[in-house]
Amino acid sequence: MPTIEFDALDYLADQRFAAAHYLLDGDETRGWQVHRDGNLALELGPGYRLLRTRQCGICSTDLARHFLPFPLPQVIGHEVIATDNEGHRYVVEINASHEARGVASECAFCSVGLATHCPERLVLGIHDLPGGFGPWILAPVESCLAIPDNVPDSAAVLVEPFAAALHGVKTIAPRAGECVAVLGPRRLGMLVVAALAGVRTREQLDGRDFAIAAIARDPAMLPLATSFGATETHHLSPEAPALADQSFDVVVDTTGNPDGLTTAVRLARREVHLKSTHGQPACGLAHLTELVVDELSIEPFSAQQPETGTGAWQRLTTGVRPRIAWLASQEPPPWLMEQADVQRGVAPALADHYASMSHGLPRADVAVVDSAAQADAAIRPQRGKGGNELALVRPRGAVLVHPSASVADSVLLEAVVARGLRLTSSRCGDFQAALDLLATDSELRRIGERLVTHHFPASDLKEAFAVAGSRACVKAVITHREAGNS
Ligand SMILES: [Zn+2]
Ligand SMILES: [Zn+2]
Repeated sequence: MPTIEFDALDYLADQRFAAAHYLLDGDETRGWQVHRDGNLALELGPGYRLLRTRQCGICSTDLARHFLPFPLPQVIGHEVIATDNEGHRYVVEINASHEARGVASECAFCSVGLATHCPERLVLGIHDLPGGFGPWILAPVESCLAIPDNVPDSAAVLVEPFAAALHGVKTIAPRAGECVAVLGPRRLGMLVVAALAGVRTREQLDGRDFAIAAIARDPAMLPLATSFGATETHHLSPEAPALADQSFDVVVDTTGNPDGLTTAVRLARREVHLKSTHGQPACGLAHLTELVVDELSIEPFSAQQPETGTGAWQRLTTGVRPRIAWLASQEPPPWLMEQADVQRGVAPALADHYASMSHGLPRADVAVVDSAAQADAAIRPQRGKGGNELALVRPRGAVLVHPSASVADSVLLEAVVARGLRLTSSRCGDFQAALDLLATDSELRRIGERLVTHHFPASDLKEAFAVAGSRACVKAVITHREAGNS
């Protein structure tokens, strides 16, 4: 059994770092024991391989780690380049689901393509699994993707956030002639601009084109956004003329603050895409961070019978008959009762109902609501046992707002009902798609040299963290000493 010992800096609940001595003991088939300072800290099942960390990016999630509901202390860091014994380079998808570990299970989520939402997953550098700010990681065996030779470390270290950005762009699916705006481009938002530019380059080959706008308060971000492929830039300031309502077809909110969403709703014609998880209420809703975690959408419910196969519930369901949780006080239309399995009631009772289902996902596909309070309840109806918050709607499902809803307390729901605006959201992305795009696009391979403003050796992690949170820094990356130098 391989055993490895190393020193690493733990991140603590009081936001300090402290040195700890780690011992990893085990192998891929038998599982692993993780010892910290001589005590057993974590026991892992099979499906993890030992890799040496080469580089690791610092992102907003790391800087906000103390707000997240996962145990501390932990070695954090999840934007990783790692190497094996032969020196081959890998990026590592962070969700250690059944599928990612390659272990047999009857997991309802992994079996329907929702492995990144597997309820039993650990998450590299975020939830229990020691992360890339330490010199060694345990990576889920199916999650280690070889980095193509022509993709430099500088771009590869951004694959985790770039994949998330690309997934957002695929969710939006920009149409020919549209203008897609990125609000507040910085660490992640700049990668959304890059992903839009990469997709645009491919679409142009097929004669389709769309515009990419960058909207920022910090004027320094605008030329940077242009270098990432923005076709127009707008400076938000009290002195500049205000942008007109609905100036853009789609607005991607990457601001990370609650006011950003209000601005995005005002500026968007067809869709707002939410990529920030700031944990605070916005637009009259309390659970928008959880909405992004579950990659839900909020859309209008059409009381009219749609043409066959075009209803949102049919697009969103994985089963034969869509499961609809009807929270609204209005009567469900008869055609819906025929087409779907409609359950009426309050959110906590309906969540329990779906949680006890023996087949399919233990969730509804869609919830229909008639107020902001119901929308919140559809996202997180109650606290489950052990502090886990139960969900009513399945990952990548939808909350549909009834046309008779009372929406005066939410500018978002008001726009959904009054003008058919959709809110979509996304979290993780497909690493292979990100690597493929980087391997074929020489402009995209320069994202690292453009975005990363600061480099630090891993031993200077405390300083790196302080700088990464400052205004002077866009993106910071730490580098571990090469194998053999230690
Ligand atoms: Zn990140
Ligand atoms: Zn699973």
